[in-house]
Amino acid sequence: MAAPSPVSDEPEPAVAELIAARPQLSMHAFDGLTLEGVPLNRIADVLGTPAWVYSAGTMRARLAALQSALKDTGAQIHYAVKANDHLAVLRVFAKGGAGADVVSEGELRRARKAGISADHIVFSGVGKTVREIELALAEGIYQINIESPAELEMISSIATRLGKTAKVALRINPDVDAGTHAKITTGKAENKFGIPYDDAAAVYARAAALPGVEPVGIALHIGSQILSTTPYRAAFARAAELIRDLRAKGLTVSRMDCGGGLGIGYRDEAGGSPAALAGAIKGAFAGMGLDLMVEPGRWLVGPAGVLLASVVLVKGNERFVVIDAAMNDLVRPAMYGAYHGIVPLAAGNAVGPASPVDIVGPVCESGDTFARNRMLPALPAGARVAILDAGAYGAVMSSTYNARPMPPIAMVDGEGWSVIRERQTYDDLWAGERVPDSLA
Ligand code: PLP
Repeated sequence: MAAPSPVSDEPEPAVAELIAARPQLSMHAFDGLTLEGVPLNRIADVLGTPAWVYSAGTMRARLAALQSALKDTGAQIHYAVKANDHLAVLRVFAKGGAGADVVSEGELRRARKAGISADHIVFSGVGKTVREIELALAEGIYQINIESPAELEMISSIATRLGKTAKVALRINPDVDAGTHAKITTGKAENKFGIPYDDAAAVYARAAALPGVEPVGIALHIGSQILSTTPYRAAFARAAELIRDLRAKGLTVSRMDCGGGLGIGYRDEAGGSPAALAGAIKGAFAGMGLDLMVEPGRWLVGPAGVLLASVVLVKGNERFVVIDAAMNDLVRPAMYGAYHGIVPLAAGNAVGPASPVDIVGPVCESGDTFARNRMLPALPAGARVAILDAGAYGAVMSSTYNARPMPPIAMVDGEGWSVIRERQTYDDLWAGERVPDSLA
């Protein structure tokens, strides 16, 4: 899931400000825009556009920063695979000591393939199937987060049949407004996620009485792109109160999964603060003897990725700049009205008088618009741009709408880079499709 940045009346940041606010980017007179020192034009020369580029160094640095902020809390990080599920990305986080939060069989398989051990994997999600639960039990994962009484009964009967005991946490819905986009808020009573707060104690007691399951703790995840600590504090306070209540009833609660949701600065807003999140966790749970964990996605990978595109043509009195990337590649602007910084790759295209333009893709939908009224210097046909902060909820949400093959992905690591996904071919596009004999 993904979210727009808050609408601001302030003048939008200039290209130089977008770059200055992102330590992973810099602009050089000769090499143009670089990601962790690697010229993006060099990658586009080889791969063409559209193309994704991820920086392993940025991911490592962000994981290390989060680990350091959370050190005092003892909280373990389970990277939310849904934000960017590429095997190389998972490998960076696995090597950095993170576990995984998964929501499907495919994500569980990806995490295992990337070398994340089963006892570092948490399985979340409102609609786990029998087959997915069987796989989770066969793998012996660390924890299954249960989202409903029906799911609890289902896991109990599957685990009993298989002669296993599932360690489960109850994902509660704390009925707290995360103050984020309606499509990605998950902790309000009207959202489909979690067990209503008032029912949680009874469901926990039921779990303690059932065979095949061992309730070990509480989980919550109140939404995504959260920039303030206030909703976290409110949700954590409710969870702590519930844990005290459960313990008073003689039930064992040893784990607390604090969810993900930490936001990033897409425009010029300050991103969510790991130190403030750590403070909120400590404030609510210090001294309770809990094994704590968090499930961040966007904060770890968002700023580590860019989508490169080229200008196809300019039309409508220089108003519309049509690029070769589209909503099928990066859907966030079309889906959520989300802001992404757009920066020319060539230093020469980043200076000069700016005028308002709409940056649009070629797909046959008016929503295929990356930016409206964006103040940018003139971008002639052939000029390349980077769409910033596209590492989270970017490639994972892509489709091949309009029969557009998936772009390649490169990963910058140190001074070098390598292709971590080939561009899809047209044959790939229809591989697996069959025309019945009756139409031969
Ligand atoms: N955990 C759960 C259960 C989620 O649904 C999500 C995504 O919405 C995340 C973690 C990761 O959220 P984010 O990428 O905002 O950190």
